[in-house]
Amino acid sequence: MGRAGSAVEVPEKRGAAPPGYERLAGAIPVLHAPRLENKVREVRDYLAEGYGTLTKILSVESPVIIALLVADEDWKDAPRDNARPYPPGLPYFTRSVEPPALVLPEELSRVFRPRTTATLPLAAWHELAHAFLLSREVVRAPAWLGEFVPQAASAAIARTAGLSLEDHLSRIEKEPGFTMRDFRGPAGARDQMSFQNLLLLLGAAALEEFGEGFLRSIFHDLWGEDEVVDEERAEGLLADALGPGGQEWLASRPEF
Ligand SMILES: [Zn+2]
Repeated sequence: MGRAGSAVEVPEKRGAAPPGYERLAGAIPVLHAPRLENKVREVRDYLAEGYGTLTKILSVESPVIIALLVADEDWKDAPRDNARPYPPGLPYFTRSVEPPALVLPEELSRVFRPRTTATLPLAAWHELAHAFLLSREVVRAPAWLGEFVPQAASAAIARTAGLSLEDHLSRIEKEPGFTMRDFRGPAGARDQMSFQNLLLLLGAAALEEFGEGFLRSIFHDLWGEDEVVDEERAEGLLADALGPGGQEWLASRPEF
């Protein structure tokens, strides 16, 4: 709508959100399409839960981030790191705007499975954990480690939030035909999801076995590394973070 009586066109402030988005305050403010008013409260609450839990588990100062809940028709206008729009329905974290933003779709893509009450919060917490990890410089590491960390973190937030993952985890295919360390990209969406689900299974099992302390260790280890983390180093970091018996336990896990 035009501004009646205004002769001068006021330029849209160069911000993170498509024009007309509204802001819902919270630990992480969420900019959202006006028509997503109901969904945004659910998302805001998940993010607040995750933000508080990660800050506590990691003993770090919380990074300043915002979130966007993007309507399907605006997906191509959402901030992102590349010129071309990303596939619809896949949440991501971008540092292309300031403060950096979690970009969440109106509806998760159908590639997300299993579909349970935990699917959306886990996806939101996964991206949130990426945001925490990337709030400091991080060197390159094998994909499985870089994705295991947010998957384990999202399982830890679920525990704190009292969200049982039993049903969700029971629906995961346990033997997709590769292990997390075998997995090689580029892969189709289905295999990507199976890979992420293996990491979630391992993360949840590690929390059961060792408690959540290993998360703090692995985040701080990754922040402390200054050279590319190779396969061997990655395995060593994870085993050490788990603590005594970590290496044997990892070797015994079918996902690993
Ligand atoms: Zn990820």
